[in-house]
Order: sequence, then C-alpha cells, then structure tokens
Amino acid sequence: MAYRSIFDASVVQKEFEINGINSQFIPLIWKYVLQNPNCKWDEIPSLPAAAYSLLNSKFLPITSTLHSVSHSTDDVTSKLLIKLQSGAFVEAVIMRYDTRLGKYAGKQRPGGPRATLCVSSQVGCKMGCKFCATGSMGFKSNLSTGEIVEQLVHAFHISNIRNIVFMGMGEPLNNYSALVEAVRIMTKSPFQLSPKRITISTVGIVHAINKLQHDLPQLNLAVSLHAPVQDIRCQIMPAARAFPLNKLMDALHLYQKNSLQKIFIEYIMLDGVNDEELQAHQLGKLLETLEVVVNLIPFNPVGNTSQFRTSSEEKVKNFQRILREKYNIRTTVRKEMGQDINGACGQLVVSEQQKKMLASSSGLVTDIEDLHL
Ligand code: SAH
Ligand code: SF4
Repeated sequence: MAYRSIFDASVVQKEFEINGINSQFIPLIWKYVLQNPNCKWDEIPSLPAAAYSLLNSKFLPITSTLHSVSHSTDDVTSKLLIKLQSGAFVEAVIMRYDTRLGKYAGKQRPGGPRATLCVSSQVGCKMGCKFCATGSMGFKSNLSTGEIVEQLVHAFHISNIRNIVFMGMGEPLNNYSALVEAVRIMTKSPFQLSPKRITISTVGIVHAINKLQHDLPQLNLAVSLHAPVQDIRCQIMPAARAFPLNKLMDALHLYQKNSLQKIFIEYIMLDGVNDEELQAHQLGKLLETLEVVVNLIPFNPVGNTSQFRTSSEEKVKNFQRILREKYNIRTTVRKEMGQDINGACGQLVVSEQQKKMLASSSGLVTDIEDLHL
C-alpha cells in the first residue's frame, strides 16, 4: 500500500485518534516537515512513542518529489515539475511580482518580496475545453489533499509564497473535498496564508459554487466565462451544456449576495470566436449587475488547440474599452510571463513525453494577484 502524505489531514487526524495520540502534535509535525521536507520521522524531537511508529508505518513527510525547476531568464517565474507517487507529473508555477519595476516606480515593493503560486488540483481534466491542453489529455486522477499542499511545501523552499491561485492543471471544483481541505490547511499554522489571498478558478460547476461560499468563506472566486452567450460557450467549453450560462449566472448572483465579494471573470480572447464588439456588449450587459473584475486573457496556442487564433492587440483593447467605458466594468488584460520556460498556468502537461509534444505554452496570471493587494 502506498504511504499517505502527512498533509492528508483527515486521514492523519483519524489515525491519531485511533491510536490515542493528541492531534495537537499535527501542526508541529507539519512545521518540521515544511522546514525539512526530506526529514526522517525519527528526527522530529519530542513526539509520543506511538506517533513515531504510526508515522513510520503509514505516512511520508512528502510523497511527491521536485523533479526539476526552471527559472525564466528575467527570474520572474519559476516552473516546478513535480512527480507524484503514482509516477504522474503535475506542474506548479511561481510568479514574483515585486520584480515588476515600474509599478512601484522602480522601488522595492513595500513589505518585501512576495510571490504567487499557481497550483494544480488534478492530473488532466475531464471538462475538455477546446482551447486548453490539459483538457485535451482527459482526466487522469484527482490530487489528494496532501498532493495539493505539497506543491506549496516545495515552492516555499524557492520563494516566499503569499498568494495561491488554483489555475494549474485540472478543475478544482471537480475535486471538491480535497480542495476544501487543502485550502483549510494552507490558512492554518504553519502556512498561515490569508484566505483573501487564495483564488480558485473554475469553469463553472454550479452546485459546487453554491457550496463553496459556506465551506470556504473569504476565498476569491474566479470564473472562466469565456463567452457571453450559451451557444458560443458550448462551442468552446463542452461543460457548458451541463452547467448552462443562466444557471451559472444565478449561482454567481447568489454567491455575491451572500459573500459580498467581487468575482473575477476570466475571458480568453479567441479571434473571430468571442472577441467581436457584439460580444463585448453582450458581456457588459450580462455582468452589469454584478460586482466583477474582468480579466481578458490572450489565448496561447498550445497542444492540440490549432483551431484557434489569438485575438489582435487592437481587438483586445477595443473589447476592454467597451467594457470599461460603456458598462463601467473594471477590465484588465492578462500579462504573459515566463514563456521562455514554458511557464504555464491553465494548460499544464501530464508527462515528460507529452511535454515534449507541446510546442509552447501559456500566459500567466498577473492581474488577479495584483488585485489582492
Ligand atoms: N479548470 C479551471 C482552472 C484551470 S485553467 C478553469 O478552467 O478555470 C486556468 C485558466 O487558464 C482558465 O481561465 C483557462 O480558461 C485558462 N486557459 C486554458 N487554456 C488556455 C490557453 N490555451 N491560453 C490561455 N489561457 C488558457
Ligand atoms: Fe479543465 Fe480548466 Fe482546461 Fe477547461 S480550461 S479543460 S476546466 S483545466
């Protein structure tokens, strides 16, 4: 039987209870592992004897390995290729913002260096969006809570992670219980991340959005809308058939009514598909009554997505102008980062072999992180 990750919190909790071990030791063990991910259990001082034998028989400090790290030439992004116990690969991407001089007039950002980690929630994805390389792989497996948290453990040794975005491989709301548990761990000792600095991005799993606000209040929600009308959405996102736009919009209104939080809307710009003026007006009308920030994402041709073209800069600007000026909607255009290392967020690859097959990669989120600050 495979060993479980020590960050699989509910399994650990249950085993501690069965073995009569005080669960107060769990955060202390996590803290030690965060500082020493390659430790042996016996190196941790002052645990009860029963804890050592339980840990040795059932758990590993870290079940995944950091296979490789590539840094972009400007050092703004680093891509972590992580090998799971099963042999599958997932990627996590670190984005550092304080190196973006200009925003702070060339000065260091107040509060010191900080970084955002883009994490994966699944190997592959079953939602099959036509523009997404992860989608073209199909679904392989869900990550466990531990495997999600371990991406943060690996990343902490490279950068001071302050923000998390679930925009890596997979649909986080299709792995709901592991997602919720992982976010809860990330906000507790020893990680102590603010839930306000954690964003999950979803294709729009309506029933899960309805639960999310209750299970993880304060979390940021980003929705991959990508089209203002149901038929275009269905063309590019097969999942839209199961989760129709009107139901999704009802869920977002309810979410906002209860959470009082703004919602981030992601909109990938696909030439001739969803980037015309008509669609900008339709989107403006659709979102007018919500408090949203729209993030226009330049499409990155990657993997099996050659049917689409990136919208021209002019069209993107015009789309942005309509949303801003006619509908007063805060609208940003996503910057692309880390392309020289194939730094990808949203279309990550499953294996070394597939990685070689994928020609290039994606743009990374900058705007959502900026908005948290
Ligand atoms: N499954 C979730 C989160 C992972 S995808 C979701 O779909 O929201 C993260 C983001 O990357 C999504 O907004 C997704 O639409 C976007 N994305 C996927 N493929 C892309 C591509 N080829 N170019 C640019 N963005 C892409
Ligand atoms: Fe899955 Fe998101 Fe890619 Fe769609 S865009 S296939 S939901 S990872």
